[in-house]
Amino acid sequence: MSVPEPVLPRIRPEIAALPPYRQGKAAGAGGFKVSSNENPFAPLPGVVEAVHAASDLNRYPDATAARLRERLGERYGVSADAVIVGAGSVSLLAAFIQAAAGAGDEVVYAWRSFEAYPGLVLVAGAENVQVPLLPDGRHDLDAMAAVVTERTRVILLCTPNNPTSSIITSEEFHAFIGRVPADVLVLLDEAYVEFASGAVDGLRERVFEKHPNVVVLRTFSKAYGLAALRVGYAIGHPRVLDAARSTAIPLSVTAHAEAAALASLDHAPELAERVAEIAARRDALAAALRGIGWRVPEAQGNFVWLDGADQTAADAFEEAGIIVRPFPEGIRISVGEPEAIARILEVAAAVAPRA
Ligand SMILES: *Cc1c(COP(=O)(O)O)cnc(C)c1O
Repeated sequence: MSVPEPVLPRIRPEIAALPPYRQGKAAGAGGFKVSSNENPFAPLPGVVEAVHAASDLNRYPDATAARLRERLGERYGVSADAVIVGAGSVSLLAAFIQAAAGAGDEVVYAWRSFEAYPGLVLVAGAENVQVPLLPDGRHDLDAMAAVVTERTRVILLCTPNNPTSSIITSEEFHAFIGRVPADVLVLLDEAYVEFASGAVDGLRERVFEKHPNVVVLRTFSKAYGLAALRVGYAIGHPRVLDAARSTAIPLSVTAHAEAAALASLDHAPELAERVAEIAARRDALAAALRGIGWRVPEAQGNFVWLDGADQTAADAFEEAGIIVRPFPEGIRISVGEPEAIARILEVAAAVAPRA
């Protein structure tokens, strides 16, 4: 007797066609997961204690994470209402895109870039406009400015760009923003800015003062190593942030995430030390990879891009216990433990392109 197929609820066809998010595989025993740009270091001093101390589990957290907003506002010289905190900066990206772009609107961004962008745009009901990267992995800002139309509502800029690790410089950013209509929302995604040098720094340069249409997004997931807790923030004109306050899911930032972020901000010197260590490992890894024949664009995030590396190379890494992130155009490798780096270089040498 065959069981009849149940009738399933009708789903928007574009959503039904969307592949669900799949997390990178876990590494086996003795292996390394260098596929998610995670930080190899344990949380900064005092963070675990602060999380344990946040023990009122029966109470909702503070809905706007006011203490963290105050603290970030002080740090960057803006008022607390120029800061919005979200459950990871991905959730803030979603809130801003949904607030600004709907059916018939366009969202422009470089491609290849952050994997989350296409899905966020599609869920909002807007159109994805992807502008190919330059051959060296940088944003083609001229081409991006050229595709802006009446229908463009949002432009996403990712610097350092995930997955190519290339930056947008301050000069490039300012030349670009001068060509963008003032009523188009520009989301400057600086998830990896702590690892970069020479990149535009939207907060230090206070780009949102001269350009209220620019919002700068940061996260505690990468340099601060708090990926498990889900906390990120955006800084911009308070009235622009209001749009995301309306679309964000209320109370999604936990008390634990806020406590951990606050405790982390007390340890700027230790953070700088770790970031410098990761950047040094990255530079050595990139140089060594180039030395054995790989094309590796200037790496400014906590990851390097093996341009043109294919699935065969990804399989070879996996066989050696190294879980990397393969894309159609190349492979992204996060900079983790020193032991992982030594093994990455062994495999990369074995599968290097012939000169
Ligand atoms: C990791 C990442 C983020 C932020 O991730 P959250 O964990 O949600 O804060 C944002 N943008 C890019 C490009 C990233 O790689």
